[in-house]
Amino acid sequence: MKFSEIPGHIATKRALIELADSDRLPHAIMLCGPSGIGKMLLARTFVNYVHCTDRHNGEPCGHCQACLQHASFNNPDTHFIYPIVKSEKSKVLLSTDRIEEWRQMLTENPAMQPERWLDILDAGNSRPRIYVNDAEYIVTAEAMSNYASNYKFFVIWLPEKMNIEAANKLLKVIEEPTPGTVFLLVSNEENNVLPTISSRTQRFNMAPLSREEIGRYMMERYGMKDYEAFELSRLAEGRLSKADELAGFSEEKEEFESLFRDIMRNAYAKKLAILRNLSERTAAFGREKLLRFLDYMARMTRENFIYNMKMPQLSSLTRTEEEFSRRFSPFINHGNVEDIMNEIGRAENDIARNANAKIVMFDLFLLIIGFLLRKKA
Ligand SMILES: [Zn+2]
Repeated sequence: MKFSEIPGHIATKRALIELADSDRLPHAIMLCGPSGIGKMLLARTFVNYVHCTDRHNGEPCGHCQACLQHASFNNPDTHFIYPIVKSEKSKVLLSTDRIEEWRQMLTENPAMQPERWLDILDAGNSRPRIYVNDAEYIVTAEAMSNYASNYKFFVIWLPEKMNIEAANKLLKVIEEPTPGTVFLLVSNEENNVLPTISSRTQRFNMAPLSREEIGRYMMERYGMKDYEAFELSRLAEGRLSKADELAGFSEEKEEFESLFRDIMRNAYAKKLAILRNLSERTAAFGREKLLRFLDYMARMTRENFIYNMKMPQLSSLTRTEEEFSRRFSPFINHGNVEDIMNEIGRAENDIARNANAKIVMFDLFLLIIGFLLRKKA
């Protein structure tokens, strides 16, 4: 990826490019700012740029060996450290154990929404941390000689998730690393990074993107029309992750949309066996994603009611959602909208309290059958 392909952050880009060109990198750098604004994109491009052997006009070339390695997440002088969850299998907790999931995250969700990472890790109720094993790994790897570049990088995503033991282990190497080592921290909550760590870094504060930057991103990435991109950019709150979500191109959104259709169609047709399968499929989402899906069901129920009431100015359906709603919305009316919303809310509470998801979802679908078949009040 080139710097010019990352929206916004002009001052930070310029400062990073100057640092790389000066060939005098600080021991430790921290990119700070809210999640989803492109900090990791910038971090990755910066590391790639430093390693590139054929830089042009402040951009990596894209075809030297280092650039190719970066494109496939295989650069030997780049180590990624990120929060993970404990697993039953191993007592040693190393980021590299979840390298496949990490690559999936960088590929599918380059704007790095932490919630997506929880899903990919299948974290359930556990909270991801950076454990002392990773700190030990860093201390060992840091002392070894570099492969090809003058600089090797430890890119630490969410240093605020480091436990105290790990942070203490790292203090010395972050303050006085082996020459040629750079720590690059990417933090969403800089105030929660231990001061002993953050005070040793050169900080770059990055702000949410402007509405215009987001709009241009949506046009370029999703081929939206300018008025459409401008309209949606208002809701993105300066975050690429939010823009991706709004663009409706995220896989999850499509998955939710088709599931909602399946559930409602089969509830109306009283297809119990299919509904049971669907309850199993949704239960397999894990808690966080299932809660998002229930939110989506609530939103769609409300939207279909509004659609049925012929109040288009209040509606925010996407084109494909609207296609379905044209036929489905008559079934959501004054006589049942409140009951359906209440039951979805009840299911959300149950799931949040760790009730058996399969049973909660199947019960919800059974209730929906009754609500949909109820005659209009
Ligand atoms: Zn290159």
